[in-house]
Amino acid sequence: MIGAWLGVAPALWAGYTWGSQLLALVGRRRGDSAQPVAALTFDDGPDPVHTPRVLDILEREGVRGSFFLIGRRAAAAPEVARRIAAEGHDLGNHTWSHRSLWAMSPAETRHQIGRGHEAIATAAGRPPRFFRPPWGMTNFAMFGALRRLGTPCVFWTVQPEGRRAADPDRQVERTARRVAHGAILDLHDADGVPGAGARLVEALPRLIELLRRRGYALAPLRDLL
Ligand SMILES: [Zn+2]
Repeated sequence: MIGAWLGVAPALWAGYTWGSQLLALVGRRRGDSAQPVAALTFDDGPDPVHTPRVLDILEREGVRGSFFLIGRRAAAAPEVARRIAAEGHDLGNHTWSHRSLWAMSPAETRHQIGRGHEAIATAAGRPPRFFRPPWGMTNFAMFGALRRLGTPCVFWTVQPEGRRAADPDRQVERTARRVAHGAILDLHDADGVPGAGARLVEALPRLIELLRRRGYALAPLRDLL
């Protein structure tokens, strides 16, 4: 199907992928740049081991964050998803099974987004309020699916650990360098990159300490955006 598209309609294909990416970047949401506020966001969970430890840290520090859950992981660990919701954190949808939307058909895109949304709502007892595409990769069909669900797409402005492992020192150093008013930090409380959850448990108290020392208030996305 992808091959046929590329052969028949390269312009359509470019619009569907690159065009959507451009549109998403132009419309990217971020917090008010006049206020010293930042949002901690957590992707790829819930993880039955590391997410509860992250929640313990947030509870101890009195911080509310935003969790972009993978639908099938929420279905496998509903007690963790419920705890995230019960403790006042925002819920976001990170698709059903964390596949890149980039080369995905419209029907499969609707399925990935819709099934993820439903699975998170069922597991947590509350529907997700935001959406983040895996690796930030979009396609045009995504926008219609998100409009129907009323869940805006939210990217990030600082990524302490991306596609490669970054030890806690490096995560703190990157954050110190890149944080600005209205920042959205993209953290990972579960694998993607192996070991991400364990590294975050170590880095998170230091990240919170750094941000507070710089005068930032930490807010969930519902307050930042
Ligand atoms: Zn992800």
